[in-house]
Amino acid sequence: MLVDCHTHIWLADQQLTPEFIREAQLMRSDPVDMTTTPEQHWAAQAEVDKVVVLAFESTHLGIHVDNDFVAGYCRQHPEKLLGLAGVDPYWPDPVAEIERCKHGLGMKGLKMSPIYQGFHPMDERAVRIYAAAERLGMPILFHQGTTFPRRAPLKYAHPEQLEEVALAFPKLKFWIAHFGHPWYEETVCLIRKQPNVFTDLSALWYRPWQYYNILMCAQEYGVLHKVFFGTDFPVATVADTIDANRRINEQLEGTRLPRVDLDQIERIIARNPLEILEME
Ligand SMILES: [Zn+2]
Repeated sequence: MLVDCHTHIWLADQQLTPEFIREAQLMRSDPVDMTTTPEQHWAAQAEVDKVVVLAFESTHLGIHVDNDFVAGYCRQHPEKLLGLAGVDPYWPDPVAEIERCKHGLGMKGLKMSPIYQGFHPMDERAVRIYAAAERLGMPILFHQGTTFPRRAPLKYAHPEQLEEVALAFPKLKFWIAHFGHPWYEETVCLIRKQPNVFTDLSALWYRPWQYYNILMCAQEYGVLHKVFFGTDFPVATVADTIDANRRINEQLEGTRLPRVDLDQIERIIARNPLEILEME
């Protein structure tokens, strides 16, 4: 079983902003092609068994990859695609939209991004969303970590800020995208002690030295069993991500530095987060 727990689709010229597309080039040293139409996404996921597809809503940044768009694509391939709904705490009635996404559109969870959406993770407008997600059994993917847009506030981006969410909603399952980079130590601390909090390794491998340190930190704290496989497509592909993970120790050649346990890497690649998150 190969599950990609973190992928995007959008119509870049309609649903993103020119500013966002321009700033996205800060992500990697190589140019990033930000086009990911449903057709391109489907072709890129050929070798994957199940794929999580994210809506992406940010009133703060003017981005609207809406729930009907993502759910419509997922309905074309229901045996393989699972949609997560974008929900913004600044909307007047986000809970009604969550109910509609669950019961009307068949979406399986939520995507939230305090840094992209400009809210503190414990803002009372967000807390009502967590309560609804816990009640409806919808896990949340948090982008909790840094990102590139100039206007995205770092003060809301620390993984440690999700500790209060985990304590207030102990039955809510959630995962932190990209190990919460660059604050991966906070993410490791959190997932070690919160049973229903996890992380994904997407879009990290192209900073190989940082990524080696992330994996070693997770290994030494004994939390690699709480890591999910993902790509952040179109930022990276399945083949690149698997290959780079299997080759993580090559940069250590000629040194006595400790190695990442490659058996654990294979277990991450084979893991089924949908079962763990009860999304199936
Ligand atoms: Zn992403």
